[in-house]
Amino acid sequence: MLNVPSQAFPAPGSQQRAASGGRSKVPLKQGRSLMDWIRLTKSGKDLTGLKGRLIEVTEEELIRHNKKDDCWVCIRGLVYNVSPYMEYHPGGEDELMRAAGSDGTDLFDQVHRWVNYESMLKECLVGRMAVKPVAVAKGILLKSQVSDLPAKEISPSYDWFQTESLVTIVTYTKQKDMDLESVIVDYQDGSFRAEIIIKDHSYLLYTELSHEIQEDITVHVAEKTGKVEIVLKKKDNISWKYLGHPLENHNSFTAHRDTGLYYRKCQLISKVDVTHDTKLYCLMLPPGTHLQVPIGQHVYLKQTVAGTEIVKPYTPVLDSLYLDLQEPIHPHNKYIYFMMKIYHTGLFTPHFDCLQIGDGVSLSSPEGNFKKSQLQELEELFLLAAGTGFTPMVKILNYALTNITSLRKVKLMFFNKTEGDILWRNQLEQLADKEKRFEVEFILSEPTSEWTGKQGRISLPLLSGFVKRSIENSRVLVCICGPEPFTEQGIRLLKDLNFSKEEIHSFTE
Ligand code: FAD
Ligand code: NAD
Repeated sequence: MLNVPSQAFPAPGSQQRAASGGRSKVPLKQGRSLMDWIRLTKSGKDLTGLKGRLIEVTEEELIRHNKKDDCWVCIRGLVYNVSPYMEYHPGGEDELMRAAGSDGTDLFDQVHRWVNYESMLKECLVGRMAVKPVAVAKGILLKSQVSDLPAKEISPSYDWFQTESLVTIVTYTKQKDMDLESVIVDYQDGSFRAEIIIKDHSYLLYTELSHEIQEDITVHVAEKTGKVEIVLKKKDNISWKYLGHPLENHNSFTAHRDTGLYYRKCQLISKVDVTHDTKLYCLMLPPGTHLQVPIGQHVYLKQTVAGTEIVKPYTPVLDSLYLDLQEPIHPHNKYIYFMMKIYHTGLFTPHFDCLQIGDGVSLSSPEGNFKKSQLQELEELFLLAAGTGFTPMVKILNYALTNITSLRKVKLMFFNKTEGDILWRNQLEQLADKEKRFEVEFILSEPTSEWTGKQGRISLPLLSGFVKRSIENSRVLVCICGPEPFTEQGIRLLKDLNFSKEEIHSFTE
């Protein structure tokens, strides 16, 4: 048997981030859903043709397996026979064939880095490459390799000191735009892990602490200097001789796109109906975790369905639109809310909905390219949402109305199939009544005859009247989110309406 690389943190390429390009699903044949694939992998059928043997694959051998019925693909040094998977691939056979007989790591990363291929394709594993393929196996950039960053950004360092009862770990990032959202801390089973996000890189501290600590960890960030202080409470008031034993990639500075996602187990605290098929779920972070999901970003939720790990992205919302714009009852940094639509024929959501209060769910660190700074000094904000594409708009709406004093107008155009599908309709209408700067319009694609509002799908006539600058050259942002065809069409129409690339932010995979 070969020594297949360990799947421990950071599992090479595991559960990675959504690529910016997005992907299109193709209609799959009857009996070829992901669930059918999982069933096939559990059937005991020999999917590699090697009867469970793992082999060492040379480049010459890999190249030979380049046909649909004999197709091997290498991802991060591991070679899979993907022929049995062809008909089950949501992106279609042609997309998979682009990597036939070659190293598909880059292609895979461009399209769906976060998909947990190790779990999905484990029965298709042929072996590992004899010679490491050209693509970087794990992509850890050491400090000396970070050449595209200004020098002052490439050398974060840490120090630690103690009092009788506390241990303080200090990191000097020398960055001005740091805040509490830039620091993610986890303390689980004696391991302390802190990820400090500095622009598009992560500085990682990962160590098995020399002594036990209490679970309430405090984080301070000095926004002007970028100094990050993580304060640990000792369990016993004794002097520590050293901080701990370094774990994998401790004290490394890595391009964010190359870090595997880190998961922690949260607890389901509540679920409340929002509409006939959508619920608001509240997850509680473990006590040793400090994590705040930035506005406009998403996380990945992971659960095991029929023995296979399934990962899907979700965008946290608030527990309500806070009509009085006051602080939420639950502090942001312990509870995370999700508004999730349950698809009865879906893979992830029916299982998620079966979770009982108190059950555990794995939640990743945040991802996404929306920046709060895009809202600074805006005068007009237009939000175009379809279905659950409303989710990123929730925090944006709340933040914009609460913090952006230059804003004169926030308009939400919300596309749904029927009246019964409109999420938080009452709250939105009440907010519009109360807050003069906010306006909402509902557009239905499958209305009943009683509906007197606007109808149809996204179109130029609908948009041209709605996303209109009230003053020439006003500072504007249009955010758009929904099913892929909706978003793609919306972007095209916005460009036709002369909005620049910088004035459009689309939330895509
Ligand atoms: P799937 O198995 O993906 O199926 C969904 C539907 O598509 C079903 O009706 C299924 O029958 C059909 N289907 C599946 N495959 C095919 C195919 N090949 N051809 C035709 N039909 C097919 N959703 C939310 O509810 N809330 C959120 O906050 C949220 N945030 C997101 C953030 C991001 C960045 C992205 C990219 C998506 C987000 N989503 C969100 C969507 C979410 O990630 C899942 O896609 C969704 O929950 C469906 O997952 P599922 O596994 O249950 O369904
Ligand atoms: P849905 O099927 O209920 O449709 C809602 C509305 O979208 C429809 O009424 C229609 O106006 C429009 N629409 C649907 N299909 C369209 C098409 N082919 N062309 C033009 N317009 C179309 O929507 P849903 O089931 O709630 O799905 C929401 C989608 O939003 C999912 O695909 C989900 O992945 C995506 N989403 C993405 C993010 C993100 O951040 N990227 C976040 C949340 C949801």
